Amino acid sequence: MTKLDNQLCPICGGDSWKHNSIQTEEKHCKCGADFYLKNVMKPQDLRIGNYIYYEHTTHIISGIMGNKIYSWWVKDGKPVIEYEQKDVGGAQVENPYMDVISRYDPIPLTDAHFIEWGFYKDGEYWGRGIEDYNFCFKYRDWAKNWAFYQEFTDSPFEHDEGVKYPISFDIEFVHQIQNLWFALLHKEINEKEE
Ligand SMILES: [Zn+2]
Repeated sequence: MTKLDNQLCPICGGDSWKHNSIQTEEKHCKCGADFYLKNVMKPQDLRIGNYIYYEHTTHIISGIMGNKIYSWWVKDGKPVIEYEQKDVGGAQVENPYMDVISRYDPIPLTDAHFIEWGFYKDGEYWGRGIEDYNFCFKYRDWAKNWAFYQEFTDSPFEHDEGVKYPISFDIEFVHQIQNLWFALLHKEINEKEE
């Protein structure tokens, strides 16, 4: 499979893809040609604190500037912070890894992440209780990504009990669920509950 450098099919010149998800790593043109996209992360998809791969190793983002990513290597769940001596007076500055965004890869979201973050298993779902509701995630084999559901646990309406309402789809990578969680709850998904 050849790598695709832009959004048009190099065989037929068309832009009609059978799977037009911006998150997929493969694209299949309607003309029958198959292409591979290394990754499609954009700086605006990312946030300080996101976990991504750099040289096949887990890193945490410490800064983003233009198309440059600053990151720390993560060892045993903790960033390894390194410093650089800045002047004779002893001032030190943080000295993270830095490279262009295209050299980083997204981390596929798996069951192991939910276990690590303290979710409970509820049938096909991974869930976590948030006040009067549960946030639940279910893997969709056919789509090769996760869907997000909300379930009320203290609803005044009996018919709501145990019903999981779909909220969003196409969650494929760790940084995506991190950012969804942070936007909804103003907390990191890997923060331990009080
Ligand atoms: Zn084509």
